[in-house]
Amino acid sequence: MAESKEKIDSIWERVLSDLQNHLGESAFKVWFNHFQPISFENYVLKIEVSSKFVKSWLEQKYLHIIQRVIKTYIPDVKSVVLTISSSPIETLQKKRSILRKMRIFEHSKISVFDVNPQTNLNPRYRFDNFVVGSSNELAFAAAQAVVNKPGLIHNPLFVYGPVGVGKTHLLQATGNEIIKTYKNLKVRYTNTEQFINELINSLKNKSIDEFKHKFREVDVLILDDVHFLSGKAKAQEELFHTFNFLYDLGKQIIFSSDRPPALIPDIEERLRSRFEGGLVIDIQPPDFETRVAILRLKAQEKKVEFEDWVYELLAEKIKKNIRELEGALNLLIFKLKYIDKLTKEVVQEIVKEFSQEFYRKITPKKVIQTVVEHYGLKEGDVFKKLRKKEYVEIRGIVIYLLRELCQYSYSHIGDIFNKDHTTVLHAYQKIVEKIEKYPEFSREIEIIRSKILQNL
Ligand code: ADP
Ligand code: MG
Repeated sequence: MAESKEKIDSIWERVLSDLQNHLGESAFKVWFNHFQPISFENYVLKIEVSSKFVKSWLEQKYLHIIQRVIKTYIPDVKSVVLTISSSPIETLQKKRSILRKMRIFEHSKISVFDVNPQTNLNPRYRFDNFVVGSSNELAFAAAQAVVNKPGLIHNPLFVYGPVGVGKTHLLQATGNEIIKTYKNLKVRYTNTEQFINELINSLKNKSIDEFKHKFREVDVLILDDVHFLSGKAKAQEELFHTFNFLYDLGKQIIFSSDRPPALIPDIEERLRSRFEGGLVIDIQPPDFETRVAILRLKAQEKKVEFEDWVYELLAEKIKKNIRELEGALNLLIFKLKYIDKLTKEVVQEIVKEFSQEFYRKITPKKVIQTVVEHYGLKEGDVFKKLRKKEYVEIRGIVIYLLRELCQYSYSHIGDIFNKDHTTVLHAYQKIVEKIEKYPEFSREIEIIRSKILQNL
């Protein structure tokens, strides 16, 4: 006997919750928030979704699983057809009143301070909020294989690609998935810069044994951005031995770099050959569809929703770097508070602020100048060894912005200020902490940031 539409309605919640279990909460929220059955005739179940884009994304990525889940609950369904909703999703104008109430420009809740102290992993990076498209699907599959059989399939796994394409996200998500799956496996994530600094400190403090132990007692070692090893002979040597130690015990090792092993300059041959000994795989900048999907997910994470054209316009203009794409989206969300109508021009302006050329023009001088002008000081003041609280904070802001806008390393910033890397890191973290705590302060930083960007 054929199932009725009423019956389907009554078990729809279960279908949805099953889909959510399969896909993870984030993906589910993004793609299934307007997913409703509208008719069931001749064994064909029609389901309404919110937009053309969502329809085509679901058809390409999830139709198979949607059909499978539906059939387990409603065996009579022979096929599933997605249609676009006739009542448009809430428009931005309506949303704005809600937006006003929420804390706009909410920095993502999770930050450096939620990093798991044992693993050094940040829980915000997960598989279920990693959008998979043609540019990263092989790397994603390789990461999943690593989770399924750590140490056995791709060892080491070496992921490379340009800045901002999701390497760190994928590596950390792999680590997070491993600790979730195997409660007894020890994972340690480290950025290579951190690895090198810790090594230097341990040599200084004569605590090299501790250092060695820290990286050898693990079941999974994840080392991000190994191109920083270039020219660092001592760190290369140490990593080489760490690698051999772990590898011989069948432990999983995962690396990332901004280029393939063969193209990292000034690196020992024996280490290069270790990098190449497992699977070397690249991540490319995402295609248009994936960029739109990522924007949608990021907006969702910030509890904002735009009409399709907004995502599409952003994704059309910013092609290479997802961090930049996210930056443009954040700026847009921030600006919503001050504008009456979201027009193409507004979005285009934001895109301009975030275009690559724009970034290249940000010099440390520009950052320092803007900050000191903002606070009515003279340029030299930030370099003075003044301990007065306000100077310390203003220096912190400069450090924070150099890191965020110029993507300078802590040591590089340290050179500018004639301070060591730990002091810089500490100053940076203080600012992040304050931004999270005080919306007023966060807004002030945003204003300085846009001053820097606007005056280029
Ligand atoms: P990389 O390490 O390659 O420079 P990141 O991993 O830091 O890049 O990614 C930059 C930003 O873009 C991060 O906020 C990350 O969450 C986001 N991002 C990158 N790729 C994806 C993806 N496929 N899905 C969702 N977010 C992504
Ligand atoms: Mg990275």
